[in-house]
Amino acid sequence: MSTTRMLNILLAEDESAIADTVIYALSSEGFQVHHCLLGSAALQQARSGQFDLAVLDVGLPDMSGFDVCRELRKFSSLPVIFLTARGGEIDRLIGLEIGADDYMVKPFSPRELAARIRVVLRRLGHAPAAENSIAGSTPAIVALGAFEMDVLGMRIRYAGQALQLTRYEYLLLKMLLSRPGGIFSRNQLMDSIWHDAPDSTDRTVDTHVKTLRIKLKAVAPGADPIHTHRGLGYSLELAPP
Ligand code: CA
Repeated sequence: MSTTRMLNILLAEDESAIADTVIYALSSEGFQVHHCLLGSAALQQARSGQFDLAVLDVGLPDMSGFDVCRELRKFSSLPVIFLTARGGEIDRLIGLEIGADDYMVKPFSPRELAARIRVVLRRLGHAPAAENSIAGSTPAIVALGAFEMDVLGMRIRYAGQALQLTRYEYLLLKMLLSRPGGIFSRNQLMDSIWHDAPDSTDRTVDTHVKTLRIKLKAVAPGADPIHTHRGLGYSLELAPP
């Protein structure tokens, strides 16, 4: 166990696929992430004063990330890194002028974001957490009940056994594991996982859930961690390891 306390990151991002990968990357690098979908929610959270840095998407549904930062600056000097879909210098200038510390253009590498966060925090004199994981020599393993996620190796173990998953099965299981107990609708899963497969349908999700269940059952016949919620979607319940 490290003696340094975990660094708390406030993340405002409305695209769940991006948020999920950021949460995984930062968690595996030793950060604690609090995720908000709206700028207003992020501001409310920021008032608690418990965060070390905020990662703000510029295009949030209720207000722009820039506006969040302007409001934030009225009561806090919390370091800010913007996530922007536009790479223009204008964004950069506006972003840095209103008191941001850095920005990243989508699509970006979540590990690169983690590295940038460390740079900003180090510059401001915060103690970096899990410093050695930057080198990437040790794959980060996240244990979730009976599941073990090797985030960098993109592998998942279940009840001690490595699962042989297709890419889509892996992405599906990873997404369900990102919020254990949370219900993901078919549309949500489609948008996040099959966004690059235009000919996929609702049936695609169901088919992959089915094959994933079969593979999990092959490892632990008694357990059925993926739950179907009629008319709503799917969730994953964590069993003890
Ligand atoms: Ca957005």
